Amino acid sequence: MDGGAHNKRSDTAPVRSTCPFCGVGCGILLSPDGQGGIAVKGDPDHPANRGRLCSKGLAVGETIGLDDRLLAPRIGGEDTDWDTALDLVADRFRETIAQHGPDSVAFYVSGQMLTEDYYVANKLMKGFIGSGNIDTNSRLCMASTVAGHRRAFGTDTVPGTYEDLEEADLIVLVGSNLAWCHPVLYQRILAARKKRGTKIVVVDPRRTASCDSADMHLQLEPGSDVALFNRLLVAIYEGGALDKGYLAQVDGFDDALRAAFSDRADVTGLDPEQIEDFCRLWLRTEKVVTIFSQGVNQSSAGADKVNAILNCHLASGRIGKPGMGPFSVTGQPNAMGGREVGGLANMLACHLDIENADHRRAVRDFWNAPAMATRPGLKAVDLFHAVKDGRIKALWIIHSNPAVTLPDADTIRDTIRDCAFAVVSDITAQTDTARLADVLLPATAWGEKDGTVTNSDRTISRQRAVLPAPGMARPDWDIIADVARRMGWRHDFDYASPVEIYREYAGLSSLGGHFGRDFDISAHATIRDIDYAVLDPFQWPLTKERQGGRFFADGQFFTETGRAQMLPLRFRPPESKKAPRYPFRLNTGRTRDQWHTMTRTAKSARLAAHLPEPFCEIHPEDAAQLGVSAAGLVELTSPQGRAVLRALITDRVRPGDLFAPMHWTGETAPSARIDALVAPVTDPVSGQPESKASVCAVKPFDAAWYGFAVSAMPMHPQSTYWARSRTRTGWRAELAGLDTPADWEAYARDLFQLPDSAVQAVNDPRRGHHRFAFHADDRLQAALFIAPEPVLAMRDYLATLPGTEAPDAISGRAPADRPDPGPVLCSCFNVGVNTIMTAIESQGLVTVDAIGAALQAGTNCGSCRPEIAALIARAATPRAAE
Ligand code: SF4
Repeated sequence: MDGGAHNKRSDTAPVRSTCPFCGVGCGILLSPDGQGGIAVKGDPDHPANRGRLCSKGLAVGETIGLDDRLLAPRIGGEDTDWDTALDLVADRFRETIAQHGPDSVAFYVSGQMLTEDYYVANKLMKGFIGSGNIDTNSRLCMASTVAGHRRAFGTDTVPGTYEDLEEADLIVLVGSNLAWCHPVLYQRILAARKKRGTKIVVVDPRRTASCDSADMHLQLEPGSDVALFNRLLVAIYEGGALDKGYLAQVDGFDDALRAAFSDRADVTGLDPEQIEDFCRLWLRTEKVVTIFSQGVNQSSAGADKVNAILNCHLASGRIGKPGMGPFSVTGQPNAMGGREVGGLANMLACHLDIENADHRRAVRDFWNAPAMATRPGLKAVDLFHAVKDGRIKALWIIHSNPAVTLPDADTIRDTIRDCAFAVVSDITAQTDTARLADVLLPATAWGEKDGTVTNSDRTISRQRAVLPAPGMARPDWDIIADVARRMGWRHDFDYASPVEIYREYAGLSSLGGHFGRDFDISAHATIRDIDYAVLDPFQWPLTKERQGGRFFADGQFFTETGRAQMLPLRFRPPESKKAPRYPFRLNTGRTRDQWHTMTRTAKSARLAAHLPEPFCEIHPEDAAQLGVSAAGLVELTSPQGRAVLRALITDRVRPGDLFAPMHWTGETAPSARIDALVAPVTDPVSGQPESKASVCAVKPFDAAWYGFAVSAMPMHPQSTYWARSRTRTGWRAELAGLDTPADWEAYARDLFQLPDSAVQAVNDPRRGHHRFAFHADDRLQAALFIAPEPVLAMRDYLATLPGTEAPDAISGRAPADRPDPGPVLCSCFNVGVNTIMTAIESQGLVTVDAIGAALQAGTNCGSCRPEIAALIARAATPRAAE
């Protein structure tokens, strides 16, 4: 553990670190219990959250268990020692480069890595191997923002700070479900709103939880954001809201305005009056912040969408001033660190340009690099295409699960499997990608890592180890540097600790200042070990002259002219075109309590309880037309793949649109790998995949039988459809099959691996109903419920029974004195939907605060408050929604 991590506290004081679950970058206080667990609290002194945490952050201590950890290197599935594994990696990479050149190898890295890890990987690939073929999974998250920022500002600069969200009078959320994906920022906005009456507008094809507190929801046609913001630009011009003084520092206004005039707002599908209401609100509110996220970025027109937003802020001069500006929020905890340190294939470190010979020379000299890359490498989708066609023959994937998350995921899975040499560094062997590796390298996990991360408002925070590395696990920077040394660059990668890497990185960033770039933390080029150990969060830049703050209020930009650039833009529809065979548009995204492919959050029963099964939102009209029944299963097909999901009939999506979450994998629900359906089309500027507008067909999935199971032990489902998740007492699973087993009891015993346990059974073969409850030592081990239609059972009650006596479990129903709480809504206090609805109806509660006073729900992290508000609204108008 970092001895200085106590930061002027006593040895028993909590360790200050950073939450690993999103780009808000909340500070977190960690108190190890000495038995492998940690208690977690929000850090009241961290500027991102001031003590707040959301449901995911609060549950981080429940995600650190060692049960599935990779504890030793593996070659071909067999444990080995580090020397053998790393010699093999170094030899295969060196031989491949010698035979086929530097572009025949690649790294695919991750926004989960710390900046120091990223720095070493980028230095090895771009400076010593001599290829640009290192790209990060942040390409899937915010590459369009990077491209948009660079086109407008000359660098990838986030102009504002989190304080702007509290100082704004109008927040426009574009393609951002902030309430679920960045909950602490959303809570900061709602808290500020109580004082200043902030208006909130949501621009999103889907009615998300963020809409529950919004003043206006523009439910536009997927992908039509450019047309909407072009209309806003015209309104800014016509309404006299141009800042002519500021425009003196901006190029391209006339062309941008001309293009905006020629665009058609009707492609948004919005009521023209609603568009004008939005424009009027924007024009009369000077302090406006436009927050944008994956709904903007994950598009074949992502960079244009970003620039359409930036155009409006530049034309009105509302940028870089308190309460004003465009604001991108990143998904991953260190996506920003990756952007800064050169994790993207088309960037050098420190926001320097790989295409710029002066920048390349300077970095080469700084690194004393023998083989500086001379051109950008392949971006994520192209990189895996190159693996598929054999141009890349050795691939190292670090903390990422591309076999699930990249578009056309089934093809990617086959591509990794067929790659001549695939190395995976991860904390577990149990991911869809890790299962395909030739060599598996055990890396340290969040609670064991030391280094720095950057959040969405440019605040760099220390992440500090609070637990010892288990087994043979090592930090990523250490593994990568070891391979580099074995490849022959002994002295250039001779790091002994993260602080040595950080010092070098800070020194390199002085080149940024030298070349007039924004990213410069050179004040830390000689930081002492002890100062790094106790380093408080700070916002970059950090030089002798300047620390943090906003950019661009002064009209000084990082382009060659020093002026900003507006772009002429026109709406371009999504690349994937609807066709009679594929009449639906599929949107993908996150749920509130899960993170990425659930390798960590799925370990928390509390988080799993929120939405334990993958689902597909479908509009009631479409469901009726297709014969999709509530709680039935649906089969989605696209030109790329197929998925089976639970139908969720709701008017949150528009007719013709579908939404499905992106979290489920071969480990948790093999038929719900939703990126298997996503087309591998990308934005031509940013290379970011269009993950929110694939085309597909949908129809009911007619299973012969359906099942629901609970168990104290892990289950081993063997059926066409299954989805499993943890519970506080073990596991639960949804099941369905096309072929009916001949012997249901034998099926149940196989599922639970209970060949000899005593069983209670109720069989009604005529109706196709079967129930089994297995007990041992007067405790319920497992129960299975089978029906020819979706099983009617009190799932959330049944999930509490394994390990208890539960003599009546086989009934599938709760006794009258133990009402079924329903699906968990408030993860902090484990309060279910049914409990809240009962309180609303029986006690006449009509506010979220009143629910909180009665049940505690919503009174801790606040992540569930929008959903409680929605339940109150639903109770008031019972037939208005689904
Ligand atoms: Fe973690 Fe939640 Fe903060 Fe994101 S908002 S950093 S998930 S606590």
